[in-house]
Amino acid sequence: MSDANEKAAPACAACELPTGIKICFTESGHGSKGCPTLAHKGLLKEARALYEESEVFQFARNASIQEGECYTNKVQNPFVLEPTKTRIVEICEFAHKMGYKRLGLAFCIGLANEAAVVNKMFTNQGFEVVSVICKVGGELKEGLGIDPKDFIMPPLKETMCNPIFQAKLLNAEKTEFNVLLGLCVGHDSLFFKHADAYTTVLAVKDRVTGHNPLAAIYLSHSYYGKIMSKP
Ligand code: SF4
Repeated sequence: MSDANEKAAPACAACELPTGIKICFTESGHGSKGCPTLAHKGLLKEARALYEESEVFQFARNASIQEGECYTNKVQNPFVLEPTKTRIVEICEFAHKMGYKRLGLAFCIGLANEAAVVNKMFTNQGFEVVSVICKVGGELKEGLGIDPKDFIMPPLKETMCNPIFQAKLLNAEKTEFNVLLGLCVGHDSLFFKHADAYTTVLAVKDRVTGHNPLAAIYLSHSYYGKIMSKP
């Protein structure tokens, strides 16, 4: 039985307990007001049960092993985090661990050069790659009721991004694991919703920061402070 409606909504992002004494981090820790680790035992049990399914178990297990393998010098005392693997390396290693042979690569036309490099990397690593660009299908934006004034380069005709078609093509090709590269906000959501295989993200779209959205977050207390107030 779900207990989601009986408790306060989780607010972990506002939890001010130091990491080392959080109940979600250490068994002897504590929780903040409304802490979901303490208040939602029923949902926790439901979630835990889902890991028992064989494929999910292997997926979750390998994801955790991959996470741990990122670090080196793990027995040094005092312990210091020393990560060694980039995201692209982790994706390749994880896919190998899972025994996946056939990868889907759903990418944005604005990152076509990067997609070509990633395609080569995956191929060199021994994967079969099925790659699909965001504009696939060539449908016009008018079909979504978009006024030309809302185009990127009005008044030129523009084709719409079609993440549902991207997902369906990869589904039809029976990709075992999909990698997203640079899809826009919302287009990525539609892809996640319609893809059959699990999907990971190599990079998200952020046109201003060279696809490094955290740059805006890191600068939010200084040069990008305007993001902290209402427009
Ligand atoms: S201690 Fe509880 S409230 Fe704080 S981050 Fe962990 S789960 Fe969230």
